[in-house]
Amino acid sequence: MQRKYIFITGGVVSSLGKGLTLASIAMLLEKKGFSIAMLKLDPYLNVDPGTMNPFEHGEVYVTDDGVETDLDLGHYYRYTTSPLSRASTATSGQIYDTVIKRERRGDYLGKTVQVIPHITDEIKNRIVHCGDVGVAEIVLVEIGGTIGDIESLPFLEAIRQFRYERPQDCLNIHMTYVPYLKAAGEVKTKPTQHSVQTLRSIGILPDLILCRSEVNLSSEIKEKISLFCNVPRESVFDEVDVNTSIYEVPLMLRKQGVDDAICKRLSLPTHPVDLSVWEDLLDKILHPKGTITVGIVGKYLDHKDAYKSVFEALHHGAIAAGYKLQIRAIESDKIPSQDELAGCDGYLVPGGFGERGWEGKLEAAHYCREKKIPYFGICLGMQVMVVEFARNVLGLPSANSTEMELATRDPIISLLNEQEEIEEKGGTMRLGAYPCLLREGSRAHAAYGTKSISERHRHRYEFNNKYKALAEEKGLLLSGIYEEGNLCEIAEVKDHPWMVGVQFHPEFKSRPTDPHPLFREFVQAMVEKKHG
Ligand code: GLN
Repeated sequence: MQRKYIFITGGVVSSLGKGLTLASIAMLLEKKGFSIAMLKLDPYLNVDPGTMNPFEHGEVYVTDDGVETDLDLGHYYRYTTSPLSRASTATSGQIYDTVIKRERRGDYLGKTVQVIPHITDEIKNRIVHCGDVGVAEIVLVEIGGTIGDIESLPFLEAIRQFRYERPQDCLNIHMTYVPYLKAAGEVKTKPTQHSVQTLRSIGILPDLILCRSEVNLSSEIKEKISLFCNVPRESVFDEVDVNTSIYEVPLMLRKQGVDDAICKRLSLPTHPVDLSVWEDLLDKILHPKGTITVGIVGKYLDHKDAYKSVFEALHHGAIAAGYKLQIRAIESDKIPSQDELAGCDGYLVPGGFGERGWEGKLEAAHYCREKKIPYFGICLGMQVMVVEFARNVLGLPSANSTEMELATRDPIISLLNEQEEIEEKGGTMRLGAYPCLLREGSRAHAAYGTKSISERHRHRYEFNNKYKALAEEKGLLLSGIYEEGNLCEIAEVKDHPWMVGVQFHPEFKSRPTDPHPLFREFVQAMVEKKHG
Protein backbone atom coordinates (compact mmCIF):
# COMPACT_ATOMS: atom_id res chain seq x y z
CA MET A 1 0.00 0.00 0.00
CA GLN A 2 1.16 3.51 -0.85
CA ARG A 3 1.85 5.28 2.44
CA LYS A 4 -0.73 7.88 3.50
CA TYR A 5 -0.17 11.06 5.51
CA ILE A 6 -2.62 12.82 7.79
CA PHE A 7 -1.84 16.32 9.09
CA ILE A 8 -3.65 18.12 11.86
CA THR A 9 -3.46 21.88 12.37
CA GLY A 10 -5.22 24.03 14.94
CA GLY A 11 -6.96 27.36 14.65
CA VAL A 12 -8.63 30.10 16.72
CA VAL A 13 -7.10 29.20 20.10
CA SER A 14 -4.45 26.89 21.50
CA SER A 15 -5.13 23.96 23.86
CA LEU A 16 -7.87 22.47 21.69
CA GLY A 17 -6.62 18.96 22.30
CA LYS A 18 -5.16 18.35 18.84
CA GLY A 19 -2.75 15.73 20.16
CA LEU A 20 -5.44 13.81 21.95
CA THR A 21 -7.72 14.02 18.93
CA LEU A 22 -5.05 12.86 16.51
CA ALA A 23 -4.18 10.00 18.88
CA SER A 24 -7.86 9.01 18.97
CA ILE A 25 -8.01 9.01 15.18
CA ALA A 26 -4.80 6.98 15.04
CA MET A 27 -6.31 4.46 17.42
CA LEU A 28 -9.40 4.08 15.21
CA LEU A 29 -7.18 3.56 12.15
CA GLU A 30 -5.14 0.98 14.04
CA LYS A 31 -8.34 -0.82 14.94
CA LYS A 32 -9.14 -0.87 11.24
CA GLY A 33 -5.94 -2.84 10.76
CA PHE A 34 -3.53 -0.16 9.49
CA SER A 35 -0.02 0.20 10.88
CA ILE A 36 0.54 3.76 12.00
CA ALA A 37 3.27 6.12 13.15
CA MET A 38 2.87 9.51 14.76
CA LEU A 39 4.98 12.66 14.62
CA LYS A 40 4.80 15.87 16.61
CA LEU A 41 6.26 18.95 14.97
CA ASP A 42 6.85 21.78 17.43
CA PRO A 43 7.49 25.27 16.11
CA TYR A 44 9.42 26.55 19.15
CA LEU A 45 13.16 27.13 18.95
CA ASN A 46 14.22 25.00 21.91
CA VAL A 47 16.03 21.92 20.66
CA ASP A 48 13.86 19.84 22.97
CA PRO A 49 11.54 20.61 25.89
CA GLY A 50 14.02 19.04 28.35
CA THR A 51 15.12 22.41 29.66
CA MET A 52 11.70 24.03 29.65
CA ASN A 53 10.01 24.84 32.94
CA PRO A 54 7.11 22.48 33.69
CA PHE A 55 5.16 25.55 34.88
CA GLU A 56 5.26 26.84 31.35
CA HIS A 57 5.30 23.79 29.17
CA GLY A 58 3.87 20.93 31.19
CA GLU A 59 5.43 17.51 31.53
CA VAL A 60 8.48 16.32 29.62
CA TYR A 61 7.70 12.93 28.13
CA VAL A 62 10.63 10.54 27.64
CA THR A 63 10.90 7.80 25.01
CA ASP A 64 12.73 4.46 25.26
CA ASP A 65 15.62 5.82 23.22
CA GLY A 66 16.01 8.64 25.71
CA VAL A 67 14.56 11.64 23.90
CA GLU A 68 12.92 14.36 25.97
CA THR A 69 9.74 15.26 24.15
CA ASP A 70 6.47 17.08 24.23
CA LEU A 71 3.68 15.69 26.40
CA ASP A 72 1.53 14.96 23.35
CA LEU A 73 3.67 11.87 22.79
CA GLY A 74 2.16 10.61 26.03
CA HIS A 75 -1.28 10.77 24.42
CA TYR A 76 0.07 8.92 21.40
CA TYR A 77 1.36 6.19 23.73
CA ARG A 78 -1.86 5.90 25.75
CA TYR A 79 -4.19 5.61 22.76
CA THR A 80 -2.12 3.70 20.24
CA THR A 81 0.73 1.26 19.80
CA SER A 82 2.58 3.75 17.58
CA PRO A 83 6.35 3.22 17.90
CA LEU A 84 7.77 6.26 19.73
CA SER A 85 11.38 7.30 19.30
CA ARG A 86 13.62 10.14 18.22
CA ALA A 87 11.80 9.93 14.88
CA SER A 88 8.46 10.85 16.48
CA THR A 89 9.34 14.42 17.33
CA ALA A 90 11.00 17.46 15.81
CA THR A 91 11.22 21.08 16.89
CA SER A 92 12.21 24.14 14.87
CA GLY A 93 15.30 24.23 17.06
CA GLN A 94 16.37 20.75 15.93
CA ILE A 95 15.56 21.40 12.31
CA TYR A 96 17.51 24.67 12.17
CA ASP A 97 20.33 23.01 14.09
CA THR A 98 20.58 20.21 11.49
CA VAL A 99 20.53 22.64 8.58
CA ILE A 100 23.05 25.03 10.13
CA LYS A 101 25.46 22.18 10.98
CA ARG A 102 25.19 21.00 7.38
CA GLU A 103 25.91 24.51 6.16
CA ARG A 104 29.01 24.75 8.39
CA ARG A 105 30.28 21.46 6.95
CA GLY A 106 29.96 22.96 3.51
CA ASP A 107 27.32 20.48 2.36
CA TYR A 108 25.37 23.18 0.52
CA LEU A 109 28.34 23.87 -1.75
CA GLY A 110 28.27 27.62 -1.44
CA LYS A 111 24.54 28.03 -2.05
CA THR A 112 22.48 30.54 -0.10
CA VAL A 113 20.77 28.58 2.67
CA GLN A 114 17.10 29.56 3.05
CA VAL A 115 13.90 28.65 4.86
CA ILE A 116 12.53 27.51 1.52
CA PRO A 117 13.80 25.04 0.34
CA HIS A 118 16.37 24.02 2.99
CA ILE A 119 14.32 24.17 6.17
CA THR A 120 11.16 22.92 4.45
CA ASP A 121 13.09 20.04 2.85
CA GLU A 122 14.41 19.01 6.25
CA ILE A 123 10.85 19.05 7.63
CA LYS A 124 9.64 16.90 4.73
CA ASN A 125 12.53 14.47 5.26
CA ARG A 126 11.55 14.05 8.88
CA ILE A 127 7.94 13.26 7.97
CA VAL A 128 9.05 10.51 5.57
CA HIS A 129 11.68 9.28 8.03
CA CYS A 130 9.05 8.86 10.75
CA GLY A 131 7.05 6.56 8.46
CA ASP A 132 10.18 4.62 7.45
CA VAL A 133 11.32 4.05 11.03
CA GLY A 134 7.84 3.05 12.15
CA VAL A 135 7.26 0.93 9.00
CA ALA A 136 3.89 2.60 8.88
CA GLU A 137 1.12 2.55 6.31
CA ILE A 138 -0.28 5.78 7.71
CA VAL A 139 1.74 8.61 9.27
CA LEU A 140 -0.17 11.07 11.43
CA VAL A 141 1.49 14.44 11.94
CA GLU A 142 0.53 17.08 14.47
CA ILE A 143 1.67 20.63 13.86
CA GLY A 144 2.03 22.37 17.21
CA GLY A 145 0.82 25.91 17.75
CA THR A 146 -2.02 27.79 16.12
CA ILE A 147 -2.57 28.98 12.55
CA GLY A 148 -1.35 32.55 12.29
CA ASP A 149 1.76 32.05 14.43
CA ILE A 150 4.90 33.27 12.67
CA GLU A 151 6.88 30.25 13.93
CA SER A 152 4.66 27.64 12.34
CA LEU A 153 4.91 29.05 8.80
CA PRO A 154 7.84 26.85 7.62
CA PHE A 155 5.96 23.75 8.83
CA LEU A 156 2.80 24.76 7.01
CA GLU A 157 4.72 25.52 3.84
CA ALA A 158 6.39 22.10 4.13
CA ILE A 159 3.09 20.25 4.41
CA ARG A 160 1.67 22.29 1.55
CA GLN A 161 4.54 21.12 -0.64
CA PHE A 162 4.28 17.61 0.72
CA ARG A 163 0.70 17.40 -0.41
CA TYR A 164 1.44 19.03 -3.77
CA GLU A 165 3.91 16.20 -4.37
CA ARG A 166 1.47 13.43 -3.27
CA PRO A 167 -2.06 14.77 -3.79
CA GLN A 168 -3.71 11.36 -3.47
CA ASP A 169 -1.96 10.38 -0.28
CA CYS A 170 -2.41 13.36 2.02
CA LEU A 171 -5.25 14.59 4.14
CA ASN A 172 -5.48 17.79 6.17
CA ILE A 173 -7.57 18.07 9.27
CA HIS A 174 -8.13 21.50 10.72
CA MET A 175 -9.29 21.73 14.28
CA THR A 176 -11.03 24.91 15.37
CA TYR A 177 -13.05 26.31 18.20
CA VAL A 178 -16.70 27.24 17.78
CA PRO A 179 -17.60 29.28 20.85
CA TYR A 180 -21.05 29.42 22.36
CA LEU A 181 -21.95 33.03 23.17
CA LYS A 182 -24.27 33.09 26.12
CA ALA A 183 -25.38 36.67 25.48
CA ALA A 184 -26.32 35.84 21.88
CA GLY A 185 -27.64 32.39 22.80
CA GLU A 186 -25.86 30.80 19.85
CA VAL A 187 -22.57 29.42 18.59
CA LYS A 188 -20.31 31.56 16.43
CA THR A 189 -18.61 30.28 13.29
CA LYS A 190 -16.74 33.46 12.36
CA PRO A 191 -13.45 32.55 14.14
CA THR A 192 -13.46 29.23 12.25
CA GLN A 193 -14.06 30.99 8.95
CA HIS A 194 -11.15 33.33 9.61
CA SER A 195 -8.76 30.61 10.58
CA VAL A 196 -9.61 28.55 7.48
CA GLN A 197 -9.12 31.70 5.40
CA THR A 198 -5.63 32.08 6.89
CA LEU A 199 -4.89 28.43 6.08
CA ARG A 200 -6.07 28.86 2.51
CA SER A 201 -3.99 32.00 2.08
CA ILE A 202 -0.91 29.82 2.63
CA GLY A 203 -2.17 27.27 0.17
CA ILE A 204 -3.64 24.63 2.47
CA LEU A 205 -7.19 23.47 1.89
CA PRO A 206 -8.56 21.45 4.79
CA ASP A 207 -10.29 18.19 3.91
CA LEU A 208 -11.91 17.80 7.29
CA ILE A 209 -12.91 20.35 9.89
CA LEU A 210 -13.20 19.29 13.50
CA CYS A 211 -14.99 21.83 15.66
CA ARG A 212 -14.36 21.89 19.37
CA SER A 213 -17.43 23.25 21.06
CA GLU A 214 -19.34 23.23 24.32
CA VAL A 215 -22.53 22.16 22.55
CA ASN A 216 -23.38 19.88 19.63
CA LEU A 217 -23.47 21.81 16.39
CA SER A 218 -26.75 21.84 14.50
CA SER A 219 -26.99 20.77 10.91
CA GLU A 220 -27.41 24.40 9.84
CA ILE A 221 -24.22 25.44 11.58
CA LYS A 222 -22.29 22.60 9.98
CA GLU A 223 -23.70 23.60 6.60
CA LYS A 224 -22.63 27.16 7.17
CA ILE A 225 -19.10 26.09 8.07
CA SER A 226 -19.06 23.81 5.04
CA LEU A 227 -20.09 26.58 2.67
CA PHE A 228 -17.85 29.32 4.02
CA CYS A 229 -14.84 27.08 4.47
CA ASN A 230 -15.14 25.19 1.19
CA VAL A 231 -15.35 21.77 2.82
CA PRO A 232 -18.12 19.24 2.06
CA ARG A 233 -20.89 19.12 4.66
CA GLU A 234 -20.13 15.48 5.49
CA SER A 235 -16.57 16.47 6.38
CA VAL A 236 -17.53 18.88 9.16
CA PHE A 237 -17.56 17.21 12.58
CA ASP A 238 -17.97 18.41 16.11
CA GLU A 239 -16.00 17.43 19.17
CA VAL A 240 -18.05 18.47 22.15
CA ASP A 241 -16.39 18.83 25.56
CA VAL A 242 -16.43 15.39 27.17
CA ASN A 243 -18.49 14.79 30.30
CA THR A 244 -16.34 12.49 32.36
CA SER A 245 -13.24 11.28 30.59
CA ILE A 246 -10.89 12.05 27.72
CA TYR A 247 -11.20 8.39 26.81
CA GLU A 248 -14.64 9.21 25.41
CA VAL A 249 -13.07 11.05 22.48
CA PRO A 250 -12.36 8.05 20.20
CA LEU A 251 -15.91 6.78 20.71
CA MET A 252 -17.32 10.22 19.96
CA LEU A 253 -15.34 10.44 16.72
CA ARG A 254 -16.29 6.90 15.71
CA LYS A 255 -19.96 7.64 16.31
CA GLN A 256 -19.81 10.43 13.76
CA GLY A 257 -17.85 8.31 11.30
CA VAL A 258 -14.70 10.43 11.27
CA ASP A 259 -12.58 7.32 10.64
CA ASP A 260 -14.65 6.27 7.64
CA ALA A 261 -14.59 9.78 6.19
CA ILE A 262 -10.79 9.75 6.42
CA CYS A 263 -10.50 6.34 4.78
CA LYS A 264 -12.86 7.36 2.00
CA ARG A 265 -10.91 10.51 1.23
CA LEU A 266 -7.63 8.55 1.16
CA SER A 267 -9.15 5.69 -0.89
CA LEU A 268 -8.56 3.22 1.91
CA PRO A 269 -10.94 0.35 2.69
CA THR A 270 -13.34 1.31 5.49
CA HIS A 271 -13.08 -1.83 7.64
CA PRO A 272 -15.37 -1.87 10.67
CA VAL A 273 -13.72 -1.32 14.06
CA ASP A 274 -14.29 -3.24 17.26
CA LEU A 275 -14.24 -0.80 20.16
CA SER A 276 -15.65 -3.14 22.80
CA VAL A 277 -12.53 -2.80 24.98
CA TRP A 278 -12.95 0.98 25.01
CA GLU A 279 -16.69 0.73 25.58
CA ASP A 280 -16.08 -1.49 28.60
CA LEU A 281 -13.50 0.97 29.83
CA LEU A 282 -15.96 3.82 29.60
CA ASP A 283 -18.63 1.78 31.30
CA LYS A 284 -16.25 1.24 34.20
CA ILE A 285 -15.45 4.96 34.32
CA LEU A 286 -19.14 5.86 34.37
CA HIS A 287 -20.10 3.36 37.07
CA PRO A 288 -17.48 3.42 39.82
CA LYS A 289 -17.90 1.47 43.06
CA GLY A 290 -16.72 4.44 45.07
CA THR A 291 -14.09 7.13 45.29
CA ILE A 292 -10.53 7.06 46.52
CA THR A 293 -8.41 10.12 47.15
CA VAL A 294 -4.73 10.40 46.42
CA GLY A 295 -2.58 13.26 47.66
CA ILE A 296 0.06 14.46 45.21
CA VAL A 297 2.84 16.23 47.03
CA GLY A 298 4.75 18.44 44.63
CA LYS A 299 5.57 21.93 43.51
CA TYR A 300 4.21 22.29 39.98
CA LEU A 301 0.64 21.55 40.95
CA ASP A 302 -0.79 24.79 39.59
CA HIS A 303 -0.06 23.72 36.04
CA LYS A 304 -2.57 21.05 35.18
CA ASP A 305 -0.23 19.36 32.68
CA ALA A 306 2.96 19.31 34.75
CA TYR A 307 2.31 15.75 35.95
CA LYS A 308 0.11 14.71 33.03
CA SER A 309 1.25 11.09 32.70
CA VAL A 310 1.25 10.56 36.47
CA PHE A 311 -2.37 11.71 36.69
CA GLU A 312 -3.36 9.54 33.74
CA ALA A 313 -1.58 6.47 35.12
CA LEU A 314 -3.32 6.95 38.47
CA HIS A 315 -6.65 7.09 36.65
CA HIS A 316 -5.78 3.88 34.80
CA GLY A 317 -5.09 2.16 38.12
CA ALA A 318 -8.36 3.47 39.56
CA ILE A 319 -10.38 2.35 36.54
CA ALA A 320 -8.89 -1.14 36.88
CA ALA A 321 -9.91 -1.20 40.55
CA GLY A 322 -13.39 0.09 39.66
CA TYR A 323 -12.98 3.38 41.54
CA LYS A 324 -13.23 7.04 40.75
CA LEU A 325 -10.03 8.86 41.56
CA GLN A 326 -9.89 12.18 43.30
CA ILE A 327 -6.61 14.03 43.25
CA ARG A 328 -5.71 16.39 46.06
CA ALA A 329 -2.85 18.74 45.35
CA ILE A 330 -0.57 19.28 48.33
CA GLU A 331 1.94 22.07 47.82
CA SER A 332 5.27 21.11 49.32
CA ASP A 333 6.73 24.64 49.29
CA LYS A 334 6.11 24.97 52.98
CA ILE A 335 6.22 21.91 55.21
CA PRO A 336 2.64 20.64 55.52
CA SER A 337 1.39 19.93 59.04
CA GLN A 338 -0.08 16.51 59.88
CA ASP A 339 -3.54 18.09 59.69
CA GLU A 340 -2.85 19.49 56.26
CA LEU A 341 -1.64 16.10 55.09
CA ALA A 342 -4.36 13.98 56.64
CA GLY A 343 -7.38 12.66 54.80
CA CYS A 344 -6.07 10.92 51.68
CA ASP A 345 -6.07 7.16 51.08
CA GLY A 346 -2.52 7.30 49.76
CA TYR A 347 0.20 9.74 48.72
CA LEU A 348 2.36 10.05 45.67
CA VAL A 349 5.51 12.14 45.39
CA PRO A 350 6.31 12.62 41.70
CA GLY A 351 9.55 13.54 39.94
CA GLY A 352 11.12 16.94 40.37
CA PHE A 353 14.29 18.95 40.46
CA GLY A 354 15.83 21.32 42.96
CA GLU A 355 15.63 22.05 46.61
CA ARG A 356 12.37 23.93 46.80
CA GLY A 357 9.67 21.82 48.46
CA TRP A 358 12.14 19.06 49.43
CA GLU A 359 11.57 19.13 53.20
CA GLY A 360 7.79 19.20 52.65
CA LYS A 361 8.03 16.02 50.61
CA LEU A 362 10.17 14.39 53.30
CA GLU A 363 7.44 15.23 55.78
CA ALA A 364 4.86 13.48 53.59
CA ALA A 365 7.03 10.34 53.36
CA HIS A 366 7.56 10.40 57.12
CA TYR A 367 3.82 10.68 57.69
CA CYS A 368 3.05 7.75 55.35
CA ARG A 369 5.72 5.49 56.84
CA GLU A 370 4.68 6.09 60.42
CA LYS A 371 0.95 5.92 59.79
CA LYS A 372 1.32 2.97 57.39
CA ILE A 373 -0.48 4.77 54.58
CA PRO A 374 0.30 3.73 50.97
CA TYR A 375 3.12 5.79 49.46
CA PHE A 376 4.40 5.80 45.92
CA GLY A 377 7.60 7.69 45.17
CA ILE A 378 8.59 8.34 41.59
CA CYS A 379 12.15 9.34 40.77
CA LEU A 380 12.63 12.28 43.17
CA GLY A 381 9.84 10.64 45.19
CA MET A 382 11.99 7.55 45.69
CA GLN A 383 14.93 9.72 46.74
CA VAL A 384 12.62 11.41 49.26
CA MET A 385 11.58 8.04 50.62
CA VAL A 386 15.17 6.84 50.97
CA VAL A 387 16.39 10.02 52.70
CA GLU A 388 13.48 9.96 55.14
CA PHE A 389 14.23 6.33 55.94
CA ALA A 390 17.92 7.11 56.45
CA ARG A 391 17.20 10.02 58.77
CA ASN A 392 14.62 8.31 60.93
CA VAL A 393 15.35 4.58 60.73
CA LEU A 394 19.02 4.22 59.84
CA GLY A 395 19.96 6.71 62.52
CA LEU A 396 21.59 9.17 60.12
CA PRO A 397 19.84 12.45 60.99
CA SER A 398 21.84 14.50 58.52
CA ALA A 399 21.34 12.15 55.56
CA ASN A 400 20.45 13.96 52.37
CA SER A 401 20.69 14.06 48.61
CA THR A 402 23.68 16.05 47.37
CA GLU A 403 21.28 17.80 45.01
CA MET A 404 19.84 19.51 48.08
CA GLU A 405 22.93 19.74 50.26
CA LEU A 406 26.26 19.23 48.62
CA ALA A 407 28.28 18.88 51.82
CA THR A 408 25.94 16.50 53.64
CA ARG A 409 27.66 14.03 55.95
CA ASP A 410 25.58 11.16 54.68
CA PRO A 411 25.05 11.48 50.93
CA ILE A 412 22.68 8.52 50.55
CA ILE A 413 21.54 10.01 47.24
CA SER A 414 24.31 11.47 45.13
CA LEU A 415 25.84 11.78 41.69
CA LEU A 416 27.77 8.78 40.43
CA ASN A 417 31.00 10.73 40.16
CA GLU A 418 30.63 11.80 43.77
CA GLN A 419 30.20 8.13 44.67
CA GLU A 420 32.97 6.68 42.54
CA GLU A 421 35.02 9.67 41.52
CA ILE A 422 34.55 9.07 37.82
CA GLU A 423 34.80 12.51 36.35
CA GLU A 424 32.86 12.23 33.10
CA LYS A 425 29.69 10.58 34.38
CA GLY A 426 28.80 13.28 36.89
CA GLY A 427 25.97 15.54 36.02
CA THR A 428 24.84 13.73 32.90
CA MET A 429 21.26 12.83 32.84
CA ARG A 430 20.36 9.13 32.75
CA LEU A 431 17.73 9.11 30.02
CA GLY A 432 15.58 6.46 28.39
CA ALA A 433 15.03 2.76 28.92
CA TYR A 434 17.19 0.61 31.19
CA PRO A 435 16.68 -3.04 32.10
CA CYS A 436 15.95 -3.85 35.71
CA LEU A 437 16.02 -7.13 37.57
CA LEU A 438 13.44 -7.64 40.31
CA ARG A 439 13.96 -9.43 43.58
CA GLU A 440 11.68 -12.41 44.03
CA GLY A 441 9.15 -12.04 46.79
CA SER A 442 9.18 -8.22 46.60
CA ARG A 443 6.13 -6.04 46.03
CA ALA A 444 7.56 -4.97 42.72
CA HIS A 445 7.93 -8.58 41.63
CA ALA A 446 4.37 -9.33 42.72
CA ALA A 447 3.09 -6.35 40.73
CA TYR A 448 4.95 -7.04 37.49
CA GLY A 449 4.67 -10.82 37.71
CA THR A 450 8.03 -11.15 36.00
CA LYS A 451 11.67 -10.78 36.96
CA SER A 452 13.07 -8.63 34.20
CA ILE A 453 11.51 -5.35 33.26
CA SER A 454 12.49 -2.23 31.35
CA GLU A 455 11.59 1.30 32.42
CA ARG A 456 12.43 4.83 31.35
CA HIS A 457 14.64 7.21 33.28
CA ARG A 458 15.24 10.96 33.50
CA HIS A 459 17.47 11.90 36.41
CA ARG A 460 21.03 12.50 37.53
CA TYR A 461 21.19 11.36 41.13
CA GLU A 462 21.34 7.74 42.29
CA PHE A 463 21.07 5.68 45.45
CA ASN A 464 24.53 5.44 47.03
CA ASN A 465 25.46 1.77 47.38
CA LYS A 466 27.71 2.59 50.33
CA TYR A 467 24.50 2.53 52.41
CA LYS A 468 23.06 -0.60 50.85
CA ALA A 469 23.96 -3.13 53.55
CA LEU A 470 22.82 -0.90 56.40
CA ALA A 471 19.55 -0.01 54.62
CA GLU A 472 18.70 -3.63 53.92
CA GLU A 473 19.54 -4.68 57.43
CA LYS A 474 17.14 -2.08 58.82
CA GLY A 475 14.21 -2.96 56.57
CA LEU A 476 14.58 -1.15 53.27
CA LEU A 477 14.36 -3.73 50.51
CA LEU A 478 16.28 -2.78 47.40
CA SER A 479 14.07 -4.79 45.11
CA GLY A 480 15.07 -3.66 41.64
CA ILE A 481 18.63 -3.47 40.32
CA TYR A 482 20.13 -2.35 37.03
CA GLU A 483 22.78 -5.04 37.08
CA GLU A 484 25.25 -3.73 34.55
CA GLY A 485 25.57 -0.41 36.32
CA ASN A 486 24.99 -1.83 39.80
CA LEU A 487 22.33 0.81 40.43
CA CYS A 488 19.35 0.59 42.73
CA GLU A 489 16.13 1.19 40.79
CA ILE A 490 13.45 0.26 43.33
CA ALA A 491 13.26 0.52 47.11
CA GLU A 492 10.46 -0.78 49.36
CA VAL A 493 9.82 -0.33 53.06
CA LYS A 494 9.38 -3.87 54.35
CA ASP A 495 7.29 -3.31 57.46
CA HIS A 496 4.58 -1.34 55.67
CA PRO A 497 1.45 -2.15 53.63
CA TRP A 498 2.73 -0.43 50.45
CA MET A 499 5.61 1.99 50.43
CA VAL A 500 7.49 1.76 47.15
CA GLY A 501 9.87 4.16 45.45
CA VAL A 502 11.16 3.81 41.90
CA GLN A 503 14.08 5.65 40.33
CA PHE A 504 12.40 5.45 36.90
CA HIS A 505 9.19 6.90 35.46
CA PRO A 506 6.56 4.15 35.23
CA GLU A 507 3.88 6.72 34.34
CA PHE A 508 5.21 6.93 30.77
CA LYS A 509 4.19 3.34 30.13
CA SER A 510 0.63 3.11 31.34
CA ARG A 511 -2.40 2.76 29.11
CA PRO A 512 -6.09 2.96 30.04
CA THR A 513 -6.53 -0.44 28.45
CA ASP A 514 -3.37 -1.78 30.10
CA PRO A 515 -2.63 0.01 33.39
CA HIS A 516 0.93 0.02 34.65
CA PRO A 517 1.38 -2.74 37.28
CA LEU A 518 2.80 -0.40 39.94
CA PHE A 519 -0.02 2.14 39.58
CA ARG A 520 -2.54 -0.70 39.61
CA GLU A 521 -1.07 -2.08 42.85
CA PHE A 522 -0.69 1.33 44.46
CA VAL A 523 -4.37 2.08 43.85
CA GLN A 524 -5.28 -1.41 45.09
CA ALA A 525 -3.34 -0.71 48.29
CA MET A 526 -5.29 2.54 48.72
CA VAL A 527 -8.58 0.73 48.24
CA GLU A 528 -7.57 -1.85 50.84
CA LYS A 529 -6.48 0.87 53.23
CA LYS A 530 -9.84 2.57 52.84
CA HIS A 531 -12.00 -0.53 53.17
CA GLY A 532 -9.77 -2.58 55.45
N1 GLN B 1 16.30 15.65 40.70
C1 GLN B 1 16.42 14.22 40.78
C2 GLN B 1 17.59 13.72 39.96
O1 GLN B 1 18.02 14.40 39.05
C3 GLN B 1 15.13 13.54 40.37
C4 GLN B 1 14.77 13.76 38.94
C5 GLN B 1 13.34 13.38 38.62
O2 GLN B 1 12.52 13.23 39.51
N2 GLN B 1 13.01 13.24 37.36
O3 GLN B 1 18.05 12.64 40.18
